[in-house]
Amino acid sequence: MSHPGQYQNPKYAWATIGRQAPPKRAAAERVGDFREIYANHDEAAIREQASRCIQCPHPLCMQGCPLSNRIPEWLALAAQGQFLEAAAVSRSTSNMPEICSRVCPQERLCEGACILNCKTDPVAIGAVERFINDYALARGAVEAVAARPNGWKVAVVGSGPGSLACADELAQRGFDVTIFEAQLIPGGLLVNGIPAFKLEKHIVERRVDLLVMRGVKFRLGVRVGWDVTLAELRANFDAVFLGVGAQQPKALDVPGGDAKGIVPALPFLIQKNVDSPLVEEEPVDVVGKRVVVLGGGDTAMDCLRTALRSGAREAVCIYRRDLANMPGSRKEYANAVEEGARFEFLTNPVAIESNAIGEVAAVRCVRMELGPADASGRRKPRPVAGSEFTVAADVVLVAYGFDPVPFPKGSDFAQLVTDEWGGLKVDRSQMTSAAGVFSGGDSVRGPSLVVHAVRDGRKAAAGIAAWLESSAR
Ligand code: SF4
Repeated sequence: MSHPGQYQNPKYAWATIGRQAPPKRAAAERVGDFREIYANHDEAAIREQASRCIQCPHPLCMQGCPLSNRIPEWLALAAQGQFLEAAAVSRSTSNMPEICSRVCPQERLCEGACILNCKTDPVAIGAVERFINDYALARGAVEAVAARPNGWKVAVVGSGPGSLACADELAQRGFDVTIFEAQLIPGGLLVNGIPAFKLEKHIVERRVDLLVMRGVKFRLGVRVGWDVTLAELRANFDAVFLGVGAQQPKALDVPGGDAKGIVPALPFLIQKNVDSPLVEEEPVDVVGKRVVVLGGGDTAMDCLRTALRSGAREAVCIYRRDLANMPGSRKEYANAVEEGARFEFLTNPVAIESNAIGEVAAVRCVRMELGPADASGRRKPRPVAGSEFTVAADVVLVAYGFDPVPFPKGSDFAQLVTDEWGGLKVDRSQMTSAAGVFSGGDSVRGPSLVVHAVRDGRKAAAGIAAWLESSAR
């Protein structure tokens, strides 16, 4: 570590300055509310952390970032204290850097690719990205003015990250963009699926406000495919982007899986995190209860932590592989453990046990071991004979992932070509099987990261612009 007044050769800052995690609230305090658990570093700490970047000629961090963010450039500016300039560079490749920096699993992306991992800890890229963009937004330094209209109109369906990114890109090029959202609050999964302790709602609202300032229109409470047909959209708009996501929960397919108290993850997260008038399901009461969460992804971590904040007596995660093979972010896993969640790895549910009135009483499980790798390269778990045991439960939250919600039978959207799991097929420009209808994000690739949806939305916007320009020739 450096000492005050000591000479620092900037070339070796990575060796003399340790990586410093952003300030995090104590677990005992944060489980009492839904506020974000991390805060920003102060300016001096950000300059110091940014100065750890060695400015390598072929930055691997840029390859690790799905948006190819110009990371070394904004790190160099941040190290000089030029935070507004750094944020402007950051915005040039990302439509919501203040959001991605909060929700990206950096250890698998930019920071996981940082060359310093060979010798020490990586540069705290996410923390710097968050700071510079919060800094610029707080000072009103993010310009959002309506561009000169180019005469084309585009309908964007859904208002999750892919849709917002697509709309933002199009609006900046002068397109007249209308976003159709089924819920009464815009933001899609950014609002419904990501709990406020990771991403506070006002941050999404601020991003939506910037789009409105750019001239993007929102039509809320409109269920496209039900209230509006594709033919109507095609008649009124020059192109369409479908960012409808994948929100149909995968079922729990074990005996007893219909017991009272078994709840899909997403409605539970919406109920506890969002004050949304469209949430119609019966409220799930977890106060003083034993909650079991099935699954090992980020949604499972979100359920565990939301249950604990909602008064659960205990929250246990059951996952069939081990920690090394768990898809959830290591950062979120560590946060869940700190907050009191318990994990049963290499464990799979085989049945749900109920009480006399059909309510969940326990999850009957079997221990698993990892066998040889399957076609995807992951080692396939298999049950260990004679290893059955039960985990007591009052509520079971199923976080096994999502499939696309099918459009209603007879809807003209149902004619779009899909792959075997129901995802929309697109070409290299993100255009679906229907000319002028584009898509991206989870509705194409299945449940994935926010940053992947942003990349798809940007790509689709470029595809829409190119397609309309070529059609006009
Ligand atoms: Fe890293 Fe995500 Fe930011 Fe890219 S968008 S630099 S992967 S935190």
